[in-house]
Amino acid sequence: MKSQDYIAMDEKYGAHNYHPLPVVISWAEGCKVRDPEGKTYFDFLSAYSAVNQGHRHPRIIEAARTQLDACTLTSRAFHNDKMGPFLKKLCEFTGFEMALPMNTGAEAVETALKAARRWGVEVKGVKNGEQEIICAEGNFHGRTIAVISMSNDPDSLVNYGPYVPGFKKVAYGDVKAIEAQITPRTVAVLIEPIQGEAGVVMPPEGYLKAVRELCTKNKVLFIDDEIQTGFCRTGKRFAWQREAARPDIMCLGKALGGGVMPISAIVADHAVMDVFTPGTHGSTFGGNPLAAAIGMASLQVLEDERLDERAEALGELFRSEVAKMKCPKMRLVRGRGLLNAIVFEEGFEAWNVCLALRDAGLLAKQTHGNIIRFAPPLVITESEMTEALGIIRKTLEKL
Ligand SMILES: *Cc1c(COP(=O)(O)O)cnc(C)c1O
Repeated sequence: MKSQDYIAMDEKYGAHNYHPLPVVISWAEGCKVRDPEGKTYFDFLSAYSAVNQGHRHPRIIEAARTQLDACTLTSRAFHNDKMGPFLKKLCEFTGFEMALPMNTGAEAVETALKAARRWGVEVKGVKNGEQEIICAEGNFHGRTIAVISMSNDPDSLVNYGPYVPGFKKVAYGDVKAIEAQITPRTVAVLIEPIQGEAGVVMPPEGYLKAVRELCTKNKVLFIDDEIQTGFCRTGKRFAWQREAARPDIMCLGKALGGGVMPISAIVADHAVMDVFTPGTHGSTFGGNPLAAAIGMASLQVLEDERLDERAEALGELFRSEVAKMKCPKMRLVRGRGLLNAIVFEEGFEAWNVCLALRDAGLLAKQTHGNIIRFAPPLVITESEMTEALGIIRKTLEKL
């Protein structure tokens, strides 16, 4: 079958809950992918930052193969010999005392919300049912009913009511707006350190630190959703580290699975995590030995290959080269590390640029009409980045 046949089949049999770029990928390695016709592309989306370690990293694939021959699933009714070592590694990598493993990012966010609500009652003394959580406008935390109840994106939200109560939405990047909404019933503030889905929206300098201090002052938990920004993507292991704004709960996912499996978790210290007791939360697949083996290798690769430093250096290169490009439609380039976006003028249709980039050999996807996110696997080399920048330059300068 040809690419067009696979696309037609997706259209016919698959629910239409996505609008993908018309390209079919049948093979992938490192920062490159290939279609059934044999054309190769740079992958500048990285499955929304789930393949920071590159496609099919040999050490991650090897760990998966080895574990496939031993044991893949036990459920949490029994112990397995891989989860403990994986969670120990995750705690050491993140600097937290405990971890709770789940599968998807949205489940990690749900887990954080549940931890905060329970903590609110059992530690802070809020009456059950009255807990409030403050979140930011423009957020993306996933697709479950509770999580979309925090959203203000009409596509995510419309006709899915009734929504989950107990959330207050405030302007992103404005610490005063959070302060104004804090009451004695507030149990947590949940934010992304950079809003990835919103178009790589960066808060003002000092915001995370101010949120941290505000939360401490008011006995409110600071929940940091690093599902997209975490694991070296923004030039640090985690984006909060740039301002030393250590959260009380961190949500993790995407690259924790090394592009192989959905693996997510929250990490926190005893003071918060101990609100969970047997039977109060769980997941059939969470902490399974196959995921644990893959997660362990995924963390090891980030550490051994110092992908935080690579993201920092190549991100600087990316932004400085893009800023020099002569494109009258381009307004600005912004981002941190290898999580970047080019913002075009208001009303500009970036979809057509994504098609032109595809034809030139680079895959990227617009996030709102006029913004394209550029986030290659962090294993991309400097010469590959230079080649990719050449493709972007030629395409943008033709607009
Ligand atoms: C992708 C993402 C999620 C949701 O992860 P899923 O695995 O798709 O459920 C949550 N938060 C952020 C910031 C994300 O980028």
